Formats: sequence, structure tokens, C-alpha cells
Amino acid sequence: MALTDIEIARAAKKRPIQEIGEKLGIGSDDLLPYGHDKAKVSQTFINGTKSKENGKLILVTAINPTPAGEGKTTTTVGLGDGLNAIGKKAMVCIREASLGPNFGMKGGAAGGGYAQVVPMEEMNLHFTGDFHAITSAHSLLSAMIDNHIYWGNELEIDIRRVVWRRVVDMNDRALRQITASLGGVANGFPREAGFDITVASEVMACLCLANDLDDLQKRLGDMIVAYRRDRSPVYCRDIKADGAMTVLLKDAMQPNLVQTLENNPAFVHGGPFANIAHGCNSVIATTTALKLADYVVTEAGFGADLGAEKFMNIKCRKAGLAPDCVVLVATVRAMKMNGGVAKADLGAENVEAVKAGCANLGRHIGNVKSFGVPVVVAINHFTGDTEAEVQAVQEFVAAQGSEAIISRHWADGSKGSEALARRVAEIADAGMANFAPLYADDMPLFQKIETIAKRIYHADEVLADKKIRDQLKAWEDQGYGNLPVCMAKTQYSFSTDPNLRGAPTGHSVPIREVRLSAGAGFVVVVCGDIMTMPGLPRVPSAEKIGLNEAGEVEGLF
Ligand code: ADP
Ligand code: MG
Repeated sequence: MALTDIEIARAAKKRPIQEIGEKLGIGSDDLLPYGHDKAKVSQTFINGTKSKENGKLILVTAINPTPAGEGKTTTTVGLGDGLNAIGKKAMVCIREASLGPNFGMKGGAAGGGYAQVVPMEEMNLHFTGDFHAITSAHSLLSAMIDNHIYWGNELEIDIRRVVWRRVVDMNDRALRQITASLGGVANGFPREAGFDITVASEVMACLCLANDLDDLQKRLGDMIVAYRRDRSPVYCRDIKADGAMTVLLKDAMQPNLVQTLENNPAFVHGGPFANIAHGCNSVIATTTALKLADYVVTEAGFGADLGAEKFMNIKCRKAGLAPDCVVLVATVRAMKMNGGVAKADLGAENVEAVKAGCANLGRHIGNVKSFGVPVVVAINHFTGDTEAEVQAVQEFVAAQGSEAIISRHWADGSKGSEALARRVAEIADAGMANFAPLYADDMPLFQKIETIAKRIYHADEVLADKKIRDQLKAWEDQGYGNLPVCMAKTQYSFSTDPNLRGAPTGHSVPIREVRLSAGAGFVVVVCGDIMTMPGLPRVPSAEKIGLNEAGEVEGLF
């Protein structure tokens, strides 16, 4: 029987983290070790790299996800190892894992098979404490807001309009809506409140987009926490929490260095939600990695319609980054599901369904190209895929003027991904990219939404009430019109209907709500249901998680 991810990870022949740091030219003085196999990189070292030239940036994204699984992280790690195996100096940058969901459904964030970063248990649990720091910083502000109200509410906060919620890193649906400050005069003024999961905190988004600690503090100060009766905003800065929050986040701002199963360097840092935030690792990790390696492979959450779009229009725009090549992950199984095959029937060869499902892939290829970046399709190989099915995908992609390369990193590590690595390096080196975001900063907010809906989702129209249009207008008048928009919609479809697979046309995009994340620096556009506090399933995986006799974690993956 094949080994599980955790068994493979546990058998890894890890090198001391100082050795991994050396590969990147980070001396042990600048590595702040968290145990033997994890370390943070000092701010002084990061500041010292600024004048170096940038390496090539490679984004890994995917088709719309299906329950069949695509393997973006697995491919990111596999490609990083493949590049190193062909003699390139490469590293990967991925997100940290949210702790709560690991106790709900199986599925970690460290990759899979022979393409993983280690130590995977720790990465999926407390890791270096970054998310705990974010929870603490967020909670400090929550406490200071209610404290301000308690001591007389000098800022005249309308307690019905406190928009700053509380957070905890756990899937706990019981906390979605609560009543706070109950119990009498000594406990303050009762008001409705609620909890989100830590990764949904705007503090997380600020940390992931900040260039340095000064920028972080400015962003935190800019966050809107409440409104007055006259609807004027109250900022975190008004509560005077931004300084102390930055203190709590000082260490969390430093990228975490770990290694892949093949002892190649990886930054694992930050993890903003992919719906109400932009869903990719921190800017500081990516910009630092670009100074240390010749090739940096990074991942964006969800499918390319959400993840890559936000990577390009939010992260790259804000951080001045430009990808040199995009790797679009597709699987034969997902093509079959997009072609109408049920999950239970994925085992049987079905070339016709693969062909039918390729429409989804084709649209993503076109979309990525519209950012001016060359694209390669990586067919993440599953053991059951047949020759004919793989060929069907390759032929389809060739007909689109691109190429699809099969990659077996999950089964074989870098040996399985060398061909992909060679081609990606070639393309990145050729300097073919001519990256431009999809819209200009000064385009009106509603028009930005329309641009994404029409050009990326291929929708006919955007539907929005007068109330929503007026709100966008009001933000423009207040000086927020130059912000990018952060789309929150289902990841399963180009449309807002999760069941509409393939490449739908003729659909409309209804906007339910818009939210201003003034600190992170984007306007969130909510299309359909979004969940900022997940729940646990009927049988949570926590029931099977425990320590074995050797004191090792069992049941996590
Ligand atoms: P994503 O980043 O797209 O969410 P991951 O890379 O985390 O996906 O992979 C999700 C799961 O699928 C992991 O448990 C991983 O082990 C599994 N997986 C990925 N690629 C393969 C493959 N080629 N064969 C079998 N399982 C795979
Ligand atoms: Mg992933």
C-alpha cells in the first residue's frame, strides 16, 4: 500500500535548518531557529538584500477546483524540487496552514506524496506561532474597542455599527453571531458581535501585503473598526491600538524558512483567506525569496479565475511584482468531472469526458495570457490516468497554442518533475512576459468589477442594487476609488453558481454586498454566500487525531 503523506513526511531526511539557510546565503546570525528544522529570517538580513537583482517569479495556479483534487501546493513544491534537480537555484513560497480546518476534514497545506515541505505536522499545527500572534493582535483591538466604549465612548462609536469582529483559529460555528458584554454594568454595554476564523482577519491581509513593519503599522492604523451615528468611520488609529498590535506582530512579520523533502529551501509565510482576502503568501516572503534565489515558485489559492486574478491585480500590483511564467495545474480526473463524470466513476477511462471538460482549462489558459504572461499546463499525474486521457489533454492544449507537460512529482519527487522544470525555466529565462494588471488604478470601482466579470468570468453583466452602487460611489468620494477589488465568489465555477462547471457564458454576476478593507487596501465584492467562520463536519477528523506510543501525531493526514 502506498504510504500516506504523513508517513512520507516523517521519514524525511531533514537537514539542519542552518544548512538550508546557507544555500540561500543566510548566515546563522540572521536565522532565528524555532527548533532544528524551522527558522525565521531576520529583518536586518532582509533589509540588506534590497539592492540585489530579482530572480524569476513563477506562479502556480489551477483550473476550477473539483472534489477530485488538483494539487497546486504539491505541484509548487514538486516544481521547486525539479528546478533544483536540473541545477537551478530555486525556492518555493507557500502559505501557512489554518489550524482549525485540520480538525474538520483531512487535507493539509504542505503538499502531498513526494512533493512536500517538512515538518508537515508542525506546519499544519502551531508552526512558529504566526497565526497565534495574529489572533492576539486582532483580539487586542477587539478588547480596546469595547474598553473605549466602556470608559465613556469619547469617539462616539455607534455600538450598533461596530464592524470589527473577534477571531479564533478554530472552526466554531457557535460563535458566528454572539451577544457580547452581558452581565451588568461592570461588563460594559451589551451589543451584537461575532467571531471569524483567524485567517479571515484583516490583520492577516495587512501582514501579507505589508512591505515592512512601518508599512504594517500604517495599514493596521487605516483599518475601519466602527462607524458613528453620522456614518463617519472610526479607525484603528483612533483607538490607538496600531502600535501595540505591531509589537505583537513583530516576529510574525519575518518569513519562516523550512525545507522540502529534497532539502531545498521553502518560505512558508502568511495565509489570508482566498475569498474576502487575496489568498497568497506574504509579500515580504516573495520579495525576499526573489533576492535569494534565481527562480521562485509560488501558489495562489482556488482556481485561476480567483487566485491568479487576485495575485496579479492585488499582490503584484501592490508589491510591484511581475510573474515571468504561469503554471496552470490540471488533472485528468478534474477534466473528467468538468466533463460531467461523477466522483465515484473517475476510475474508469473516459476520453470523451476528458475532452468535454477541457473547455474549463482552455478558458483559464486564455485568461492568464490576457495578463501578458506565458502559460504552461502541468498535468499533475494520478496513478489511474491512462495514456489516451493524458494525450487528449495535451492535444487540446496544443490546439490552444500552449503546451501541457505531464508531471509525476507526487509519485517520484523531482525525478517526476524535471521535464516541467526544464520548460518552465526556459520560458522564464526567455523573458517573454509582458505583464500588466487587468485594469488601471484610477478606473471607477464598479467598472473594475465589470472588467473582471466580463474578461475573466466571461459574464454578460454585473447586477448591483442602487445601494451597492451608491456605496462604491461614496468610497470613491472618500478617496478609496484607486483601490483594487477583491472578488469573493464560489471557487467551483467561473460563474456564481457552484454547479455550473466547464466554461459557461451568458451568465450574470450578482453582487450581494461590498466591504471596505481600508488597511489591507482593497474593496471586497461579495457575490453569493461566503463563510468567514467555518463549522466542523458531522464526524470531525479531530476524533481520529491523537498521539501514538512513540509520541508522534496520528490521524492528521
Ligand atoms: P491544492 O493546493 O490545489 O489545494 P494540494 O497540493 O494540497 O492541493 O493537494 C491536495 C491533496 O491531493 C493532497 O492530500 C495531496 O496529497 C493529493 N494529491 C495531489 N496530487 C496528487 C497526485 N498526483 N496523486 C495523488 N494524490 C495527489
Ligand atoms: Mg494549496
